[in-house]
Amino acid sequence: MPTSPAEPLRAPYDLAVVGAGPAGLAAAVTAADAGLTVALVDAEPRPGGQYYRHPAPGLGARRPEALHHGWAAFTALETRLRQHRHAGRIRHLPGRQVWTIQQCGHTGRWTLLTTATVPPHDQADSGDQNTDEAPRESVPAHRLLLATGTYERQLPFPGWTLPGVVGAGGAQAMMKSGLVLPGRRVIVAGSGPLLLAAAASLSAAGARVPYVVEASGYLPYARRPGPLLRNPGKLTEGARHAAALARRGVRLRTRTAVVQAHGTDRVTGVTVARVDGDWRPRPGTEQHLSCDALAVGHGLIPQLELAVELGCATRTTPDGTPALVVDSFLRTSVEGVWAAGETNGVGGAQLALCEGELAARAVAAAVHGEPAPARTAAALRTRATRLRVFADLMAQVHRPGSAWPQWLRGDTEICRCEEVDAASVREAVDAFGAGDTRTVKLLTRAGMGWCQGRMCGPAVSCLASADGGAPVSVDRRPLSRPVPLAQLARHRPQEHL
Ligand SMILES: Cc1cc2nc3c(=O)[nH]c(=O)nc-3n(C[C@H](O)[C@H](O)[C@H](O)COP(=O)(O)OP(=O)(O)OC[C@H]3O[C@@H](n4cnc5c(N)ncnc54)[C@H](O)[C@@H]3O)c2cc1C
Repeated sequence: MPTSPAEPLRAPYDLAVVGAGPAGLAAAVTAADAGLTVALVDAEPRPGGQYYRHPAPGLGARRPEALHHGWAAFTALETRLRQHRHAGRIRHLPGRQVWTIQQCGHTGRWTLLTTATVPPHDQADSGDQNTDEAPRESVPAHRLLLATGTYERQLPFPGWTLPGVVGAGGAQAMMKSGLVLPGRRVIVAGSGPLLLAAAASLSAAGARVPYVVEASGYLPYARRPGPLLRNPGKLTEGARHAAALARRGVRLRTRTAVVQAHGTDRVTGVTVARVDGDWRPRPGTEQHLSCDALAVGHGLIPQLELAVELGCATRTTPDGTPALVVDSFLRTSVEGVWAAGETNGVGGAQLALCEGELAARAVAAAVHGEPAPARTAAALRTRATRLRVFADLMAQVHRPGSAWPQWLRGDTEICRCEEVDAASVREAVDAFGAGDTRTVKLLTRAGMGWCQGRMCGPAVSCLASADGGAPVSVDRRPLSRPVPLAQLARHRPQEHL
């Protein structure tokens, strides 16, 4: 691969990739391998996304790979990224958040409007000839590939806003990026495969993890062995986590949920209760467990703001979360827009890598005027389909039960940004007839704060529809992220097209 300095990369690019997690990173380097010019935009200062996280530079970590599996795959991708940047095929724009995407009706070309998330001197590749110019706010490209990943789903319960209660993925992020533990004695709870990964990392990093508390069970996997048998790697991964947890004395309690966290200044313990198949607490089964941190999560939700605003069709996955509708070449329903990784449904880093590569090959085929990617992509398609079947099974097994709102008390905060409690949301629904998240928002301000409903949205959807298992609603947002007013004022629609 050529590594000598080349001419700076000129816009418009053949392809703009949003997100440099496993999916976007694999897509960008594969597209560049195929001769395309690529802009890779990511909100984080370093590539890798939620999975391949990096310790902050000031921490001087000696073994950044310690809490990762498959780190070699990441370093190989990062090397290819560096080589492509150097050769003038990829412009990497780290630390930039895409807040909207526009299409020129005349040329069909896309323009990504971005805003900085980290100061330019903190950006990983300053000094690179393809990133050292002043940060550009607009990125024009002929085609788009969305790989924007997920965020965590939180279902509230009394005490969930106490200091020391963190997301299960949040605990992973604290360890991988900040090299800190959320506590010394950490209970891991909620539902989904991330719990086992978080518990294994926490205990490997020195925390005492007395319990993993899973609201669903693992028996349904055994009742549908097909997807597991077709994905022996997943079986091995599960067995590896189970063995690591058993070695460290971590006990797994299934069909059990944390229904309350206790403490004044910070969490000091939790009440757990056995739950039925709908996650309804069984009276008389409550038990107090002490801890100084709780890592809790109820699955992941794809980040679809940009895609939905562009008009991409969505589907509801078996765990009630929305995901993009894509065909077997990962084309969305909008011409010129592809999607890869967890935007298409939560399925793990291996699936994200596989889909990133497959989508990039499909884009390259389209650019070169071929009807479909070369036959070598067939193996990738088979693998992606196999992993996606397993992802659907996981989603089905860990779908939140419809009775979880029974954990709530009237004073349980639902929207922590705007401090709206369950009683206020229920009043909006029962007394004022609100039947959706938008009407609840207008009546109570739930979802109007800084996170724009990412935290409370799933819970409000359930309370508004009086169905605790209601699917997470998909709201259209012209701005995918909060943007400084000064930047909005500078922007004239169509000016960059
Ligand atoms: C908090 C959290 C922790 C997790 N920890 C683990 C773990 O420890 N182990 C595990 O197996 N799985 C973990 N997962 C799941 C894991 O992230 C995925 O399986 C995998 O990373 C998916 O890859 P992806 O490329 O689809 O998305 P991601 O890795 O999520 O990458 C998406 C990227 O897109 C960027 N992005 C999103 N929107 C924009 C925008 N508008 N503008 C610019 N950039 C944008 C994000 O900054 C991110 O870098 C975690 C998920 C979350 C949410």
